[in-house]
Amino acid sequence: MTALRGILLRRIALDGPMSLAEYMTLCLLHPEHGYYTTRDPLGAQGDFITAPEISQVFGEMLGLWLAQVWMDQGRPAPFTLAELGPGRGTLMADALRATRAVPGFHTALQLHLIEASPVLRNAQAQRLGDHAPDFHGNADTLPDQPLFVLANEFFDALPIRQFQRKGAAWAERMVGAADGRLVMGLAQPAPLAALDHRLDDTSEDQIVETCAPAGPVIAAIAARIAARGGAALIVDYGDWRSRGDTLQALRQHRFDDPLLNPGAADLTAHVDFEALAGAAAPLRATPLTPQGLFLERLGSAARAERLAEALDGTRLENHLAAYRRLTHPEEMGQLFKVLGLAPQNAPELPGFA
Ligand code: SAH
Repeated sequence: MTALRGILLRRIALDGPMSLAEYMTLCLLHPEHGYYTTRDPLGAQGDFITAPEISQVFGEMLGLWLAQVWMDQGRPAPFTLAELGPGRGTLMADALRATRAVPGFHTALQLHLIEASPVLRNAQAQRLGDHAPDFHGNADTLPDQPLFVLANEFFDALPIRQFQRKGAAWAERMVGAADGRLVMGLAQPAPLAALDHRLDDTSEDQIVETCAPAGPVIAAIAARIAARGGAALIVDYGDWRSRGDTLQALRQHRFDDPLLNPGAADLTAHVDFEALAGAAAPLRATPLTPQGLFLERLGSAARAERLAEALDGTRLENHLAAYRRLTHPEEMGQLFKVLGLAPQNAPELPGFA
């Protein structure tokens, strides 16, 4: 059994069942045994793979998007270029390489990375050392200046709570213990003002999810963008509204029971983009757009063809398969969505129409 399971079982024995948010926080970020605290989870040797690790086209397109928005807003200098949860730094490295030739962009940017994992901070410092990044534990400490933000698969890692509908009330799904194992249980139903709007589109026993930490992150970013200019681009899996139980555990590229290997499996949940857009007021949110469509509107197909010209054999096949994986509706193209945020009076963000 994982060391963390013993800690969780003891805590439940003392204090009773815990919310899924508390469970996820301990699993992912426990100072000694947390999933992100102890490892680099990405890549073939790890537990999951993300778009920037699949193909360089992803980071390049997002970089060019940023540079375009920066130019459309009058090339503010200096400005903060921030990334939430940068993983191995691959997305940012590709974005920075793709924008090297944009006049003034690199001299104006100051790189800020929001990262909880010491292991990944280390990887990011090595990969992006040329740009002397500043590290932050959360978005509250970002400087007060124009802000351009990227986030890929960050919000899906934030802890959620789950509520099951009972009449006009909601019973929270809690992690408890039975026979030395972690098990899911239900708290007593209670009315919940924050979920009033979900009484309209749910029926008895349906589950909805909330993600409390997402709001303050978006609010901190939105305040700077609203006051100083800039934009945010959020890419993740999920939909406009959360529906049902979407908590999932991935271990060595396979689905796992979320309660079985605490601290040793990645835990994520679908992102509720409506909640993100709502927390971003007074910013304007773009229509939620599938990743494949968004990338193709930015010219990813031409870029992929260009890269293909220099390849043959297995390398060409791998490149084509990777591009398909990013964009095809049956792969990541439709499941992953993109949301843009910008000030009300800013020029329209590219890729959304
Ligand atoms: N964006 C990267 C990595 C995605 S994995 C990519 O696309 O490859 C999720 C990332 O968010 C990791 O870097 C993880 O350490 C970070 N992270 C997760 N929870 C966090 C939190 N609460 N605060 C800051 N960073 C967090």
